Amino acid sequence: MKWSQSHIFTLRDDPADADIPSQALMVRAGMIRKVSPGIYTYGTLALKAIRKFENIIREELGKISCNEILMPMVQPKELWEETHRWEEMGAGLLKFQNRNQHDYCLGATHEEVVTDYARRDVSSYRHLPSSLYQIQTKYRDEIRPRFGLMRGREFIMKDAYSFDVDQEAAQKSYENFYAAYQAIFDRLGLKYVVVRADTGNIGGDQSHEFQVLAENGEDSLMVSEESGYSANVEIAPIKENISKVDVELLDMEEFATPGLKTIKALAESLKVSEDQLVKTMFFAINEEGEELKPVAVLLRGHHEVNDVKLKNLLGLANPPRMLTDKEVQDVTGAFPGSCGPVGLKIPIYADQGLMHLANYTVGANKDDYHLKNVNHGRDFEITETADLRLAQDGDACPEGGVYKSFRGIEVGHVFYLGTKYSNSMNFKYLDKNGKTQLVEMGCYGIGVSRTVQAAIEQSHDKDGIIWPKSIAPFQVHICLLDPDDTELAEYTEKLYRSLQEKGLEVLVDDRRKERPGIKFKDADLLGMPCRITIGKRGFQNGEVEVTDRATKETQKLSPELVEKAVLDTLGEV
Ligand code: ATP
Ligand code: MG
Repeated sequence: MKWSQSHIFTLRDDPADADIPSQALMVRAGMIRKVSPGIYTYGTLALKAIRKFENIIREELGKISCNEILMPMVQPKELWEETHRWEEMGAGLLKFQNRNQHDYCLGATHEEVVTDYARRDVSSYRHLPSSLYQIQTKYRDEIRPRFGLMRGREFIMKDAYSFDVDQEAAQKSYENFYAAYQAIFDRLGLKYVVVRADTGNIGGDQSHEFQVLAENGEDSLMVSEESGYSANVEIAPIKENISKVDVELLDMEEFATPGLKTIKALAESLKVSEDQLVKTMFFAINEEGEELKPVAVLLRGHHEVNDVKLKNLLGLANPPRMLTDKEVQDVTGAFPGSCGPVGLKIPIYADQGLMHLANYTVGANKDDYHLKNVNHGRDFEITETADLRLAQDGDACPEGGVYKSFRGIEVGHVFYLGTKYSNSMNFKYLDKNGKTQLVEMGCYGIGVSRTVQAAIEQSHDKDGIIWPKSIAPFQVHICLLDPDDTELAEYTEKLYRSLQEKGLEVLVDDRRKERPGIKFKDADLLGMPCRITIGKRGFQNGEVEVTDRATKETQKLSPELVEKAVLDTLGEV
């Protein structure tokens, strides 16, 4: 492609609304342009990278006999009602009516449509196993779209679905997809880890996420190198290593704590460490619109509640929301900061990490007062004790070793669904014995547009993008410094054609008005793996430059050696 005939427009400065480097770089490189929050137009360069990644996916899924289809983005309410997700998905599902006042939503995921599609044709064990995928635009009405393509409202996803006769066969499909995902992300060439994950409101009970490691990743991952166990912090189980010591239980006592609203302030005032205090948090476990059903959660002062663990303990569809200050006051009689478990009439869930504590301090449910020497079992009853907190660096992993935390970007997700959808949507087949059975399902997503940005987030420097070779929009970027020089133009044209004949994709910066400095800056910004610089002065001395974008190493070569050097740089020979 010739730059002069392209639609590539670079920006010198970072856009004001970019929060992370990859987002700024994509905008500066003219790869994405925001149309509305979370909604972007992909420019040619972004689309080329996206298509390359899609093709890696197509090749690897082809190897496990997964068939490509394309499902509609506009989906009727009736299908979503069959699984009860029309309500359960909440506001993330964008709903609307057509001219006949018929209800539809935009596809946020396709379990309903694919199950409906498969159940129309699959009726016998002879039709199974089967798996289908599509690469398509999804719409999720994310509350806070951010970080460019990382959390868009409209984004490109590859979603696949497997159908099997029984659990054992479904497990095999799961393993096939897992292995295909490893092949896909290995080929992509990024550093990633696979972690155990929550199944969210997709359902099912086995799930792994593929996470590209990056400091700005939204996800927190817990990895125990010793045992090889890794999990998203959302579910990372904790082994508490503290045992109860027998101490004499002291009399509970109320005392004034004016102005002490936080655990930190209370700890400082009482001269105890935060881990000796117990904090009380309040959550609503009712569905939106239903009557308030509050619960209390107790944790040690230095711990954070894990709302996904709480959701799973209580069997909720979504993580519960925290009560507002006003609701807390209605329930306890005091504002947050002075609340505690003693005297509460609501269920109290305690994190296992506080069970060994005795004679601790909690809020008195009276503004500006606390209670000391409080003991569970004597002063209040715990409804249930469980692992309810977020794992931290150094916490013990039940499988062995201790956790170390990493930040990651979730690029892929594999779920075992079981019969959740086949059951609610009545998707059955006749087994060998002529008996009706529910189909076992799995689903498998890859965030295609997110992954392309994740590649940039993991691989860039102060000057710009450093594309992994697997998805670089072009492998070669030629900076033609003097496009009006006939000899130079002819050599460049020949080289351009010859490299293309070898299967390489080449961008030639043949812009007439731009100075060399600008062309170099843009080449660094766009980040193609190999740069060739062709300038009049060098050429007269029989020299052309070949630069490796990743290492910035430059070789000065005579023109006839350039092609070989390019192939060497790209690792193509
Ligand atoms: P997240 O936890 O990041 O919201 P999710 O777990 O809801 O994502 P899945 O339903 O597992 O997402 O979707 C499959 C893949 O689609 C994810 O692994 C992710 O890579 C991608 N994805 C999900 N939401 C978005 C989004 N808002 N923007 C871009 N990609 C997304
Ligand atoms: Mg996910």
